[in-house]
Amino acid sequence: MLKAQYLFRLDDITPTMHWGRFWGLLSVLLKSRVRPLLGLVPDNQDPALDVADERPDFWTVMRQLHSEGLVDIAQHGYQHTLRSRPGLQVIGRRFGIKEMSEFAGDSYASQLSRLDAGQRVLESEQLATPFFMAPNHSFDLNTLRALKTCGFSALSDGIALFPFERAGITLGPQQLWRPLWMPCGVATICLHTNEMGPHEVGAVRAFLRTRPKLTCFAEQARRPASTILRRATNASFTVAYASARSAKLAANSLRAAGQPRLPRGLPERSQQSCI
Ligand SMILES: [Zn+2]
Repeated sequence: MLKAQYLFRLDDITPTMHWGRFWGLLSVLLKSRVRPLLGLVPDNQDPALDVADERPDFWTVMRQLHSEGLVDIAQHGYQHTLRSRPGLQVIGRRFGIKEMSEFAGDSYASQLSRLDAGQRVLESEQLATPFFMAPNHSFDLNTLRALKTCGFSALSDGIALFPFERAGITLGPQQLWRPLWMPCGVATICLHTNEMGPHEVGAVRAFLRTRPKLTCFAEQARRPASTILRRATNASFTVAYASARSAKLAANSLRAAGQPRLPRGLPERSQQSCI
């Protein structure tokens, strides 16, 4: 019988993240033998991710988690500085992703130099791996080519059901931002621990109690089998996902149009945040 495999990725892992929330969720995951993929920002310059005092033991703790085989590590961008770059992403507006990017649209040389700089930071901390995740899920073909040149082999992203290859990089699909049942394939649940309260952690705990079939990124990052059936299933899923997102965005716009406007001066959600 077909059954989905689930893996968890935790984004925006920095020395200034919310440590209490990070440990709270990590302990829930480890208790259920989940090996999450941690997205480490090599040189964070995004003030939105500075939510607590810097932890001097950050890199030591990350090394220990990794060396004990409790987590996989991915490089999450370089400095996590997002700028508006409409229409340039591989995964963009049609999938409901805000068009903010650290890389998409820049030249190959510029992307290569910044990816390399990030990789050097992680190398100096003995935490470099062949895995990558782009801030705001935003990258273009030059990003993939530059990743390949830097020696990366896999990226966590892609609206599909099964891992697939593009420009020589394996893409481990990432479709969920909270635990949800999937019919089959490999489902990555992307979580931001800085923003998770007891309700969100409770939902993860409840999901894990259902004993889902678990996997980890390292397992899915191997060169994927490219059968006709898999390619067709991925293509159908991509179309269905984009249609569902469009319908949801249209419904949200209609709902918003029928609601009174916010009084001036009320803050909107930061455009800089990484979803
Ligand atoms: Zn991020």
